[in-house]
Amino acid sequence: MSENIEQVRCLIIGSGPAGYTAAIYTARADLKPVMYQGMQPGGQLTITTEVENFPGYPNGITGPEMMEEFKKQAERFGTQVRFGVVTSVDLSKRPFVIVADDGKTLAAETLIIATGASAKWLGLESEKKFMGQGVSGCATCDGFFYKGQDVAIAGGGDTAAEEATYLAKLCKKVYMIHRRDELRASKAMQHKVFNTPNIEMLWNSIPEEVLGDDSGVTGLRVRNVKTGESRDLDVTGFFVAIGHQPNTDLFKGRLELDEMSYIRTKPGTTQTSIEGVFACGDVQDHYYRQAVTAAGTGCMAAIEAERFLGS
Ligand SMILES: Cc1cc2nc3c(=O)[nH]c(=O)nc-3n(C[C@H](O)[C@H](O)[C@H](O)COP(=O)(O)OP(=O)(O)OC[C@H]3O[C@@H](n4cnc5c(N)ncnc54)[C@H](O)[C@@H]3O)c2cc1C
Repeated sequence: MSENIEQVRCLIIGSGPAGYTAAIYTARADLKPVMYQGMQPGGQLTITTEVENFPGYPNGITGPEMMEEFKKQAERFGTQVRFGVVTSVDLSKRPFVIVADDGKTLAAETLIIATGASAKWLGLESEKKFMGQGVSGCATCDGFFYKGQDVAIAGGGDTAAEEATYLAKLCKKVYMIHRRDELRASKAMQHKVFNTPNIEMLWNSIPEEVLGDDSGVTGLRVRNVKTGESRDLDVTGFFVAIGHQPNTDLFKGRLELDEMSYIRTKPGTTQTSIEGVFACGDVQDHYYRQAVTAAGTGCMAAIEAERFLGS
């Protein structure tokens, strides 16, 4: 192999909780991991404020601070953390050949994919402005902050229905905003939503503007697409539940993906359809989508990579 190609035992793509946990474990197993951080160093948690459900932080911690701690811990054991995006992968033979936008080509004996998933947003300027200050993409993560308050949620699929019923247990009132006149969610989920007294459906409606001030969100302007009428909802939280996009474009046609484009792993493991390639975190999980589960599967990927190399 050419001298310009850097040989690595373990390459990790992605720097969220899954990637950093895989880095901590592989570094401590002396695999001298190299990590590419990607366009969002630290991953999704860097766009949130308080994280209160990650064990070990009894007083909570901000997402960016927590990810800085992950990075320090991974570097302490020798992980080479690099700023850069992986632009191509050749998984047709081992070692796998990976190209990054820092101009480097690497030959990796094992590959750990932790490229996560991106929450889809509506694209409103005000949504961006109040992100983490009343606008959230995760009810399980942030619902607790709105206990006893009125909130709104946009979406009409199973996740939106699931999150609306979750919020309804914590909040006084939940407005569920959907642009059509029926939900896409399964009949069972619809039944749950329609039988939850504190969820009010706003059909044929779209969020137009998130209203707020220095304290965060104070309301949501919603427009009925049939009548053209706008209405301001008095809410302190706004949840966007219109889906997630796994970051798997790089792997299309190279690894087995499921029907939603998530990487398929063998049940109970992080093994992908190619030996020596492991996937962890949200890129292979559309169900739990939590930092702690991402970290858990990052640990699994590292142990599996280490055993693969030893076998
Ligand atoms: C607003 C918000 C609030 C949240 N709050 C909480 C919370 O309070 N508690 C909780 O447990 N969970 C929370 N979550 C969910 C949590 O953030 C995710 O479950 C978790 O970050 C998933 O970790 P991950 O490592 O799989 O991927 P991600 O965090 O998505 O990280 C993916 C990484 O891959 C990198 N990457 C992608 N493509 C490439 C490439 N081509 N080359 C190199 N790198 C690449 C990105 O740069 C990024 O670093 C929240 C999510 C959001 C959006």
